[in-house]
This record gives sequence, structure tokens and C-alpha cells, in this order.
Amino acid sequence: MIPVIRPFLGEEEALAAAEVVRSGWVAQGPRVAAFEQAFAESAGAAHGVAVSNCTTGLHLSLHLLGVGPGDEVVVPSFSFIATANAVKYVGATPVFADVDPLTGNVTAETVDAAVTPRTVAVIAVHQGGVPFDVDSVQALCDRRGIALVHDSACAAGSTYRGRPVSSGAGLAAWSFHPRKLLTTGEGGMVTTENTEWATRLRKLREHGMSVSAADRHAAGGVKLEEYEEVGFNFRMTDMQAAVGLIQLRKLADVIAKRRELAGRYHKLLGELDGLRCVGDPEYGTTNYQSFWVVLPDDFTGTSVDVLAGLAERGVSARRGIMASHLEPAYADQRDVDLPVTEHLTRRSVILPLFHQMTEAEQDTVVGALDAVLRGAK
Ligand SMILES: *Cc1c(COP(=O)(O)O)cnc(C)c1O
Repeated sequence: MIPVIRPFLGEEEALAAAEVVRSGWVAQGPRVAAFEQAFAESAGAAHGVAVSNCTTGLHLSLHLLGVGPGDEVVVPSFSFIATANAVKYVGATPVFADVDPLTGNVTAETVDAAVTPRTVAVIAVHQGGVPFDVDSVQALCDRRGIALVHDSACAAGSTYRGRPVSSGAGLAAWSFHPRKLLTTGEGGMVTTENTEWATRLRKLREHGMSVSAADRHAAGGVKLEEYEEVGFNFRMTDMQAAVGLIQLRKLADVIAKRRELAGRYHKLLGELDGLRCVGDPEYGTTNYQSFWVVLPDDFTGTSVDVLAGLAERGVSARRGIMASHLEPAYADQRDVDLPVTEHLTRRSVILPLFHQMTEAEQDTVVGALDAVLRGAK
């Protein structure tokens, strides 16, 4: 079976984690600090604050902004459900915006249509690694006086107008889950340009403590901490950060290889009638965290039929990006009008793409998809 993704982990990561174990300091410490600095640098951000995963990073970002009950936050429904859930965690209401049919991302227009007098923030997603049009969404938020948080979970290594995606963002949350391109098992980061925010995020992720455990340890002698506000335990471990440091060094190669394979997919799949492959928008580049295609309009089967047909032929694919408002957890918001989201989620499929994928495996995927699409026309 050809898998949909395979993490690119090697002996170096195993050794790095083992070294941390042998050092005797496994919780958040010097490796986390080093990983924060290295990741922030690669993302073109002033500060990086490591957290336990991207979901807690989004939660922490909204908490930092003071978002709470009675507030509305505009989010795409067309995203992993964590984007909407983060809004619920702070007691606010997610309001779903539709997306652009070509990129699968919110735009200034779709966000504007969802803004009300209660809107205090927007979480915009770089879906599947495809950047959203940051400048126009930021301009809209500035005009409306609302905050913009980037959900950059999928987007490490993507670019926007020649710079790392989300560089210069007020707040961007990243994921290091194995389904993304750079993995620490579980893990996340919040990047920010704002020094005061970075300081407060560091406290909030560690119970609101005035001095971190690692700093107290390093100081020697007696150093007492204070709990300045109610915080969280959203820490990353040094074992994870050690793996992340190695993974970060490989990221550019991983993306170059993915883009090469994606280019080949575009060429081969472009010959299948009516199939559309999602790729670079005109203002940036995707890291191809997901390679997704929209099924031809005249294909009479469903995306589940396609997944089943591919599985029969030895190819493990995934349904397209989910629509949160169609899940039972958001049943109270099912009536919202999101035609593009519903079309994309029902008519798209994510195809296998991983660093070690061979051309023969790619040809198998293309052949299988061709056969499935022909079969049901
Ligand atoms: C994966 C993902 C998340 C959640 O990331 P975790 O690190 O697993 O919490 C959030 N948003 C999007 C768009 C994602 O793809």
C-alpha cells in the first residue's frame, strides 16, 4: 500500500533524542530554547515560543489577545477542526467564512462577509501549505480594527511574496505533528514580532510562572518563582526539541523534493480530463504539505468512491480537507451558507506525497486515479 505521507525521520533524530535522555534533563530546557531560536530565524520571525502542539498555540494566542465570551472570531470551516475549537476554548464563538475555490483559503472578501460588530479576531489558515493572501487579509483586519492570527500549522517552508510565510505576523501558530513536514512527534510553536507578547506567552505556557523551571535550575542557589496570572501547561520537552532541531535542518531538502514530485504530478494528472490540482498561488509558493485535487465535475461518483477505488489498487489517499461546520460538534452552525467550502470538501481528495516516493509509485497513483475516474464516468 502506498501511504499518504511518511515522516522523514532518521538515525540522527534518534541519536539526538537519546542524548537528551542521557543528559538527565528531559523537560523544557536548553534544547527548547535553541529550537525556538532556530525555528524563528527560519520563519523570519523575531520570537518563537514552543508549545505542546499547534492547537494549544492557537488557544494561547486567543487567550493572549483577551478574546472571551461574547466575542466572535472569524475562521474558515474548511480546515482541521482545531482551528474552530481554539475559539471555543476561550468561550468565544467561531463564525465561519467561506474560501477561495482555487486556494482553499479565506480572502479579504470572504472574511469581510463574516465580520459583525462582535468580531474581535480572525484566524486565517495557510491550508495544506498554500499561503493565504496575507497583505489583503491583514489590510482588512487593520481597517476593521480586529486581530489576525495565522494558523500556519501546515505551512513551515511555504513562502509569501518571496519571504517565509507568516514572517512579520503578529501571531502565527505552527504544528510539528507527523502529518506535517517537520515533526517532533507532537509539538507546536507560536511566532511573533512583539517582544512583550513573546514574554507573556512564555509565562502563560508555564502556569504563569515568573521564572521558568529551567532558569531556576541554571541559576543554582535559591530562586523562588511567583505565579503572576493563571496560566497553562503547554510546554514542549527537550526530547522533542532535539528532534525538531535536526528536522529543521532537513526541511528545505524535504520541500525541494516534494515540489519536484508535485511538479511531476501536475504534469501527469493535468492530462486527466477535468481534474484540477491545487498548487502555487500567484503571490507565493506552497510546501505541498498536502497534494490535493478537485474531482472533475462530470465524475458521477463521490470522493469516498475514489478513496475506495484507489485503496483497491494499493493507494492510500485521504478525503479532502474537512468542513468543520458539517461535523456533529458544530451541528448548531450547520445552516451557514458556505457553497465553496462544501463543494471543495465533498469533491476533493488528498493524494500520497512523501520525500522517499519513487516515480514508479507516483505512476501507480496516477494510473489508479485515471482508472477510477474512467470507471464511473
Ligand atoms: C494539524 C493542524 C492543526 C493542529 O495541529 P496540532 O499540532 O495537531 O495541534 C491546526 N490547524 C490546521 C490547519 C492543521 O492542519
